[in-house]
Amino acid sequence: MSGTGLNGPTNYINKYLNDFMKHFRVLLINPPNSVPIKSNFVINVFQPLGLAYVASSLEKHKYSVEIFDALALGFDQEKIIASRKVIGADYQTIKNKIIDYRPDLVGIATPFSFQSFESHQIAKIVKKINPKIITLAGGTHATIQPDEMLNDKNFDYLIRGEGEYATVELLKALEKKTSLKNISSLSYRNKQNKIIHNPRSLPIQKLDALPFPARHLLPMDKYLQAAKKGRVVEGMLAFGHKRTSIFTSRGCPFNCTFCSVHLTMTRMWRGRSPENVLKEIKECVYKYGIKYFDILDDNFTLDPKRAKKICRLIIKEKLNIQWSTPNGIRADRVDETLIKLMKKAGCIQVKVAPESGSPLVLKNIIKKHLDLDMVKKTVSLCKKHHLSVEAFFVVGFPEETIDDIYKTISFAKELRRLGCDYCYFFIATPYYGTEMYADAVKKGYLDESRYHLNKIITTTNKSLLKSPNYTHKKLFELLKVAAKVNPPITKIRLKSGLKMLILDPKRILTYSFGYLRNFLP
Ligand code: SF4
Repeated sequence: MSGTGLNGPTNYINKYLNDFMKHFRVLLINPPNSVPIKSNFVINVFQPLGLAYVASSLEKHKYSVEIFDALALGFDQEKIIASRKVIGADYQTIKNKIIDYRPDLVGIATPFSFQSFESHQIAKIVKKINPKIITLAGGTHATIQPDEMLNDKNFDYLIRGEGEYATVELLKALEKKTSLKNISSLSYRNKQNKIIHNPRSLPIQKLDALPFPARHLLPMDKYLQAAKKGRVVEGMLAFGHKRTSIFTSRGCPFNCTFCSVHLTMTRMWRGRSPENVLKEIKECVYKYGIKYFDILDDNFTLDPKRAKKICRLIIKEKLNIQWSTPNGIRADRVDETLIKLMKKAGCIQVKVAPESGSPLVLKNIIKKHLDLDMVKKTVSLCKKHHLSVEAFFVVGFPEETIDDIYKTISFAKELRRLGCDYCYFFIATPYYGTEMYADAVKKGYLDESRYHLNKIITTTNKSLLKSPNYTHKKLFELLKVAAKVNPPITKIRLKSGLKMLILDPKRILTYSFGYLRNFLP
């Protein structure tokens, strides 16, 4: 019945109102990424789903919005700027984009602390072009260290935590010039130049009510190009496939002392309905031709019943997709039926995260409260159903002993014997805002001479902590011992490596060199 006399005047009035109340133009930027020149850290492309979620909410409210994923658009460009290796579109290109688009507001993502350097650079560029353009910071680092971000006067506003509703509220308030006091999760400087943090909003309860991330604003072709060169996060898995990331839930109710998930996504776990998840998967498959999904949830299987239903729906629809859970699942939240269904629904790999092989460390130091027998059981089940499984471990907690670290290495060996394909060992990082950070400060474990490193580099292979039980050198030696629990090369890596050798030989040489160093004496 559209186009009838009844709808005509309504459309006309809406159009008139839209024109009359000119909406802000919004540009959301995922900055390039950079590391110090000497760092071996490989910068890979990731899809900025947080920005895409904010973008779709803004579109729903009729804002003109674009996303400029500088990291993806220039993933194959490397420049040396001020002793840093910068990957991504160069500053001039970003500047041109801002000038061309003429935004009223630029939102800048800062998902990682070591990416904050680039976020500040972008904010500076924006203000140089036109100081009247409003700048807004968001993302994990901005949420955790809002003062650090807002001390840079190039940032006007900052949203902590989930940004979908708060960004819309902020734009409305700025347009109507109304008070900012009641906008939950907003941080800003008041007229006296004092930084104000409004209280955090409650976690978004009805995730189904959010529009799907605005993938149509992301450079999907660039992610495919990057995947074909192994330049995407988790790129070895389903190497070169057209892929996307997806969140089916947010938050985690557990209290692991080193984990920062609750600071952004809260301890309230919220799952999308299986039907809503399936709808997004289908959109990705049919609209973008995507066949591989990284389910980025922190706790995909927390509600096993829901996870099973998602799998059943994927199977029923015969979508023929592949997927994995790169952030890990709780080994105590799966059973054999779920593993079977996951495999049948296209899951090609799960990651479990025992973190430590020492029950004392798990209970008293990191408070993970995970039964190691459950981890073994889950690994065995995965192998029984031909599902690749890898495990995450963390060592280097200050009160951990050398004996504890050896227990972790032994446990990793045991998992390998049960069929675990690979064990990752990271060095404990005291992320700002976590219980582990507070404890390290209180007890003097924080290595002040190194802590600044978290701003310039990923620190999962560098200790920022001092332990009374071992030196940095000893820890590094133990990590080399730990690395030997893994085979020199896994089947998945070998397959991907051969493909990469053809597509990007220079990169495979750099990658192999870094990897093989683990096995040198
Ligand atoms: S480490 Fe995993 S289980 Fe622990 S709090 Fe973080 S997300 Fe939850």
